[in-house]
Amino acid sequence: MSFTLDTPLAEAVGVTPAKALGRAFGMESVGDLVTHYPRRYAKRGDLTPILELPVGQPATIVAEVRKTQVRPMRQRRGKLVEVVIGDGIGEMSLTFFGQEWRANELVPGARGIFSGKVGVYREQLQFAHPEYRLFADEAEARENAERFAEIPLPIYAATSTLPTWKIEDLVTIALDGLGEVPDPLTPEARQAQKALPAREALQRIHRPETDADVHRARHTLRLHEAFVMQTALVQQRVAVRALEATPRPARAGGLVGRFDAALGFTLTPDQETVGIDIAAELAETHPMNRLVQGEVGSGKTLVALRAMLQVAESGGQSALIAPTEVLAAQHLRSITRMLGPELAAELVPTLVTGSLGAGERRRAALRVAAGQARIVVGTHALLSDTTTFADLGLVVVDEQHRFGVDQREALRAKGQNPHVLVLTATPIPRTVAMTVFGDLDVSTIRTMPAGRAGIQTFVAPIAEKPGWFARVWQRAAEEVAKGHQVFVVCAAIDTEATTVAARLDDVDDAPAPEAEDGAKGPRFGVRQVADTLSRQPDTQALRIRALHGKLPADDKDAVMRAFAAGEIDVVVATTVIEVGVDVPNASTMIILDADRFGVSQLHQLRGRVGRGGVPGLCLLVTEALEGTPARERVEAVAATLDGFELAEADLGLRGEGDVLGDAQSGTRSSLKLLRVIKDAGLIDRARTMAIDVLRDDPQLERHAGLRAMVAAQVGEVERAAMRKN
Ligand code: ADP
Ligand code: MG
Repeated sequence: MSFTLDTPLAEAVGVTPAKALGRAFGMESVGDLVTHYPRRYAKRGDLTPILELPVGQPATIVAEVRKTQVRPMRQRRGKLVEVVIGDGIGEMSLTFFGQEWRANELVPGARGIFSGKVGVYREQLQFAHPEYRLFADEAEARENAERFAEIPLPIYAATSTLPTWKIEDLVTIALDGLGEVPDPLTPEARQAQKALPAREALQRIHRPETDADVHRARHTLRLHEAFVMQTALVQQRVAVRALEATPRPARAGGLVGRFDAALGFTLTPDQETVGIDIAAELAETHPMNRLVQGEVGSGKTLVALRAMLQVAESGGQSALIAPTEVLAAQHLRSITRMLGPELAAELVPTLVTGSLGAGERRRAALRVAAGQARIVVGTHALLSDTTTFADLGLVVVDEQHRFGVDQREALRAKGQNPHVLVLTATPIPRTVAMTVFGDLDVSTIRTMPAGRAGIQTFVAPIAEKPGWFARVWQRAAEEVAKGHQVFVVCAAIDTEATTVAARLDDVDDAPAPEAEDGAKGPRFGVRQVADTLSRQPDTQALRIRALHGKLPADDKDAVMRAFAAGEIDVVVATTVIEVGVDVPNASTMIILDADRFGVSQLHQLRGRVGRGGVPGLCLLVTEALEGTPARERVEAVAATLDGFELAEADLGLRGEGDVLGDAQSGTRSSLKLLRVIKDAGLIDRARTMAIDVLRDDPQLERHAGLRAMVAAQVGEVERAAMRKN
């Protein structure tokens, strides 16, 4: 009998074990089982340090039996077997009730692997009724002691009903019956990359004889993951390039030239370079598909606007998609302002959002359908079927982290393959970009426009230093006294009304609920904070307004407009102001419950101030205690202004599963060994290999193994997407 990776598990290992594996790990096929790689390896010779075992957690250790004792139980009938096992330094006990026969096999000197939940009994570590397996080949072991002791012993992610050695047994059955498996690498590539044949790599990762086996097997399988993933992405990119798009060439002295001439400043070198790339791509006969990343305020929107002007040159329309209606409205205002009256009259920038009145919306839709509006701004609703464009040439997606491949596909279906430009202020490390946005080209704007006054960030740890809470509001008042404006951001719209006042009066109130990572439940709500500040002595004279998602759209817009016009001193808001809001006179960003936000979100919020000539101040108020991960996130943001550094820190703090998970859960589930940060070099190499292979053999006709694995991975991505819906 010979299995393939697609053979159903039940056929390979039997119905009951297959069910158990399915329940525990969602496995369905032989492929799922043989890619359940050992998490680590133990050595028969290296006993596991018992003293380091985490109490209350499941653990698997290699140890030797020291002492075995059978005695009657006090309270009830039957015998108790007590076994002491040791690692040479520490000892722990195993207990079995009513199983005297255990004493016959757990004899002093026997070695094995023991697995259970670590408990404590009379100050000694203990496993009650652990699972264990003794090394049966003890005789052989003694004969060949040195070599045997060095054989790595796989330890699998396991459950209480499926301990690691049961998984090992099932993997062995699957491997023994497994026939050929597809190998994505050609023999030449294997040699060049020092990789093992695929079948052998699987064998050695599960049943290594030496550490070198483990090393080479892991290297091989990691390379496979990177290579298959990059091949799928590059193929997707090639497919997009094969699509036809209307070229939108620039014209000397045209709209872009007129716009540039009227600008009160010169482009930064990066804006210039990225602008040249985009201009060239818009003139091509296949769709542009580009991501522009750069700090908040680095001038991405300006770059996008110039692209829109180039498209408008030949009568084409551009759609700008913003994450919220507030931001869409603001984009429209700032675009209209940047264009100046003449260009604005020519291009008719038009807002299309759900909050427009029926009549206004109809008129807007007409202007868009007739092609008169050459710049159209809105939210996702723009992608709905009801908006028709006369000639959609470019789609700009602003600050939309969750704008995945599918949405880009939907867009493409809407226009005649419009060019696509995605803007993001969340800097993405290059290899992550290659993984998550592998079908996009990436440009980076690193230089900031000159004349930025900079920003200082402080953490106000009000659990340890309650007095700082009042000080925060005094600072806010001082900034307003200097003629500046202040943002206050809360994690919630409403919370217990008492909290803010209690904090200011330093009255005891109920402790905040705490999450596992030390983050506190939201304590400060927009409405309560705005209300309390209006009544506190330090701040009551200030013009304070609340802004949040539950306000009618007109009100939100009015508040933002008034704030931008300097008619409000302090706006207390939820993260509706997270991205894009541009108020150069705002100097101060106060973030309450800062630990409730992610690193990149905090960084984005901070980017709202210190943008013009006014020096910025960011105060991160948190109750999270020193040393908790929640507090570390906040401290990390205070420690640097470098968005790229923070993005890497964010990955480190969040774990990359979350990062990839946001974007593409399918990609993530197909990555077992590969780590997008640590394996950056390998991913890079794999991308080059993928490009080389596809150049010679676009349909992978001569690369059957690779073709099969790409198909399997694309299938997995689709299955994951379907599970999500
Ligand atoms: P982003 O979209 O990256 O946050 P914007 O394009 O909105 O940045 O630019 C932020 C602000 O800086 C805007 O007011 C814009 O007019 C201004 N700006 C953009 N580029 C430059 C530049 N090269 N020199 C000076 N100011 C600039
Ligand atoms: Mg912007």
